[in-house]
Amino acid sequence: MTTLKHATWTLWRNNSVTEEESRLLRRVADEVPIPLTDEARRDVETLIDAFLERDDAAGLAAPQIGISKRIVVFKTKNFGSETPPSRDSNEYEVLINPRITQYRGAEEQQTEGCLSCPEISADVTRWTEVKVKAFDRTGRKINRRYTGFPARVVQHELDHLEGMLIVDRADTLYFPREKKQFFETMFQIGRRPTPTL
Ligand SMILES: [Zn+2]
Repeated sequence: MTTLKHATWTLWRNNSVTEEESRLLRRVADEVPIPLTDEARRDVETLIDAFLERDDAAGLAAPQIGISKRIVVFKTKNFGSETPPSRDSNEYEVLINPRITQYRGAEEQQTEGCLSCPEISADVTRWTEVKVKAFDRTGRKINRRYTGFPARVVQHELDHLEGMLIVDRADTLYFPREKKQFFETMFQIGRRPTPTL
């Protein structure tokens, strides 16, 4: 992998929990001032830079690069492609202070990964349609409706703003066999007291 300019903050790294990064990833992110201040505009651009330099992300939330603010960016098309969108394309979208106003459709389970939860994946149940109120990257009020995979990506990214990650929503967790001990200890798998009959 090429060296990235923007490091991704993770809950653990090399078999140990990352205390400082976990604390930030776990906190409820701050609202962004509207109209956007210069600092807020810089944060938005930094998040876009971090997103566009990767080829392995469908979306990225500001806390994942250490900025505890309510900003997310995600692809709106070409999800299978490993080429990141170009900066001036309409293939990605930025949401500031997003709020889901309606969950619709059906609940559906699918396997997700997260850059902040390296080496694992999780089955997560989410709604197939959401309506969102937010501000765009220029600070203008917008209303959006997402269905299918984009709806899932939006729910995943908005969870990050609440300090919520896939490990908290997992119906089932998957991790590599050789890391069994680390992950089983962390997630307390098999640690439930055996009932005595
Ligand atoms: Zn994530």
